[in-house]
Amino acid sequence: MVEITGTTQLICLLGSPVAHSVSPAMHNMAFSLLGLDYAYLAFEVGETQLAEAVKGLKLLNARGWNLTMPNKTKMCELVDELSPASQLMEAVNTVVSENGVLKGYTTDGSGYMRMLREYGVDVIHKKMVLAGAGGAARAIAIQAALDGVAEIVIFNRSLDKAVKIADDINRHTGCIASAYSIADTAQLSKALESAALFTNATQIGMAPRSGQSVIEDKGLLHPGLVVSDIVYNPRETKLLKMAEEQGCKTVGGLGMLLWQGADAFKLWTGHEMPVYDVQNKYFK
Ligand code: NAP
Repeated sequence: MVEITGTTQLICLLGSPVAHSVSPAMHNMAFSLLGLDYAYLAFEVGETQLAEAVKGLKLLNARGWNLTMPNKTKMCELVDELSPASQLMEAVNTVVSENGVLKGYTTDGSGYMRMLREYGVDVIHKKMVLAGAGGAARAIAIQAALDGVAEIVIFNRSLDKAVKIADDINRHTGCIASAYSIADTAQLSKALESAALFTNATQIGMAPRSGQSVIEDKGLLHPGLVVSDIVYNPRETKLLKMAEEQGCKTVGGLGMLLWQGADAFKLWTGHEMPVYDVQNKYFK
């Protein structure tokens, strides 16, 4: 447990809901293991209270904070500086306060890419197929493009959102991106044939609708394909079960959660999170 003293600096999570979040446990364990003088708390703060909460945290000289739903977009307007990735993603999930000067970052995408490296999945200079165009999908697609993925094909229910991400990638990075409706199974089948990685970044498969999969025909999944699902409740989604049956390597959603936290931890403290201790305790 973190020993709180007169010099302990506050780091927190601002979102709604936050009661289920594993972030306080993960960061406090890491502070404690490394003997760092920080404490992490979660605060129930919605979008309409965000500006006031940020003002209060600045006044108290908090070291930084994480943002979760629904605050990631709104936070962009409230920081003094945005990282280049955050600018493109139009989202901030981590703020570092340097004596009241607020710097905004997004570690969702970097955490996802770091997690792939940790699992030995190499997608750089290769083709990736992504389902989803919400906040998480946008962060993953843009970071993947910035990191050197050669081609990204995005499928989403609302096509306009997928098209916007593809346009932004094509305009600002060297990656080639295209977008289709998720209902276009012919294009999905074609895209998957030559892809190294398929990622589900939609809510499909998440409890209580864990009987659903974003891909219904498991024949589309070939053994050379790595299949990753960022949904982590349940730990093994229907999509991942189908992919395993097809002989694909699979990667679950907990790794992204862990590594986005590790990247934020480094931004606040300058230290590497003791990821494997945290993983053994909270992510098994
Ligand atoms: P979001 O911004 O609300 O986006 C939701 C995405 O799911 C959109 O692409 C949406 O399509 C799609 N979708 C939702 N219901 C659908 C349905 N019935 N049929 C087809 N598509 C549907 O949410 P988000 O923040 O990106 O999160 C997406 C998922 O990722 C959630 O399950 C969340 O728990 C998970 N997540 C995991 C991590 C992690 O660390 N592992 C981090 C962030 C998020 P439309 O655009 O058409 O609405």
